[in-house]
Amino acid sequence: MSDVRRLTPRTDAVLADPDVAAAVERLGRDRVKALVADVLDTCRSGGLRPEEVVATVVASLPGSPVSLRRVVNATGVVVHTNLGRAPLSSAAVEAVTVAAGATDVELDLVAGTRGPRGEATLAALAAAVPDAGRVHVVNNGAAALALAACGLAAGREIVIARGELVEIGDGFRIPELLESVGARLREVGTTNRVRVEDYERAVGPDTAFVLKVHPSNFRVEGFTSTVPVAGLAGLGVPVVADIGSGLLRPHPRLPEEPDAATTLRAGACLVTASGDKLLGGPQCGLLLGDAALVLRLRRHPLARAMRVDKLTLAALEATLTGPPPPVARALDTRPEDLLARARRIASQLDAEVVTSQAAVGGGGAPGVVLPSAAVALPAELAAPLRTGAAPVVGHVNEGRLLLDLIAVDPADDAVLVDAVRACTS
Ligand SMILES: *Cc1c(COP(=O)(O)O)cnc(C)c1O
Repeated sequence: MSDVRRLTPRTDAVLADPDVAAAVERLGRDRVKALVADVLDTCRSGGLRPEEVVATVVASLPGSPVSLRRVVNATGVVVHTNLGRAPLSSAAVEAVTVAAGATDVELDLVAGTRGPRGEATLAALAAAVPDAGRVHVVNNGAAALALAACGLAAGREIVIARGELVEIGDGFRIPELLESVGARLREVGTTNRVRVEDYERAVGPDTAFVLKVHPSNFRVEGFTSTVPVAGLAGLGVPVVADIGSGLLRPHPRLPEEPDAATTLRAGACLVTASGDKLLGGPQCGLLLGDAALVLRLRRHPLARAMRVDKLTLAALEATLTGPPPPVARALDTRPEDLLARARRIASQLDAEVVTSQAAVGGGGAPGVVLPSAAVALPAELAAPLRTGAAPVVGHVNEGRLLLDLIAVDPADDAVLVDAVRACTS
């Protein structure tokens, strides 16, 4: 046997090293063992000295037990679908940590008996939207709509404007979703125009409800007309509104974005929405509205298949009751503050400051421009910044890489500077 082979440490000996043993606790035995085997192979083939094995294993250990990476969102898109939509507030993150273990999500600790699941979360949501008689939470916005369609319109008709037959993303379409749970669609109007008379003609004994869907990811401009919820409320059938973004109240910077409170007040009997767009919480779907209707949907057999877990309940409660989440903060940031941050960052790098145009994103408010500020760098840095130790995703515009600050947590400005330095030094 060659010297290297003889001196190569045994797997067990490497695994017994305190640092490696700690990694086994943190990352799992199989994962660490596979890494040790790789490093030992390198050692046996002469690529590494035996005394370097442990240090090499420790240096190659992944920093986290999950393959998902933390990413700095410098895209200028506040709710970025590919980056996981809304980042959670620190309060929501803490709430998730608390709920991760055994928790009283369905136990009344005082009485020692089974308690109502997620009671405090539902109470927080109800308090945030007093116009709703009752509220319920499911897995996502699409689930909320599917539950409404299945519970109220299976085997019956949903009247919907042709201009509101929306494809949400990734090939999923709202009309197909509604049909998949057994509802029939009765389309009214044209792509660009619909009038209340169109709805009136379509509504009949087979109508379960009229559905209003917010075109949250596109805009039709020019010769257009739609009927607001208030105009549909007098048709004599229930109005369900899929508002999409999950704004609970009007937002001054997003005047055209529908919100739950206003929509209910306008006469919708049920509002469905996402929890991880403009509400800024975890992925979930909200159902808000008429008490009897929401209760009926909550008791529907399908509701069990859409039930949210304790982590979601915890994060949603903290989002609703805690400090403003990152999405809300981003929307409230003043452009001059973003510019000041961009100047501070640029002064530490060989970079230029530009004013930029940020967007809300697939989460809502299509076409709304949010004035923002960015640090401009050579476009060639886009790839190395994405693949660096602390990934930063910007966007390339007119041959330059813009790192837009609207969706960057100010605490990450230093991370951003370090990441750029790591790519340029
Ligand atoms: C985003 C969106 C949905 C889907 O919500 P998910 O939470 O992604 O399931 C449905 N309708 C509208 C109008 C939306 O904007």
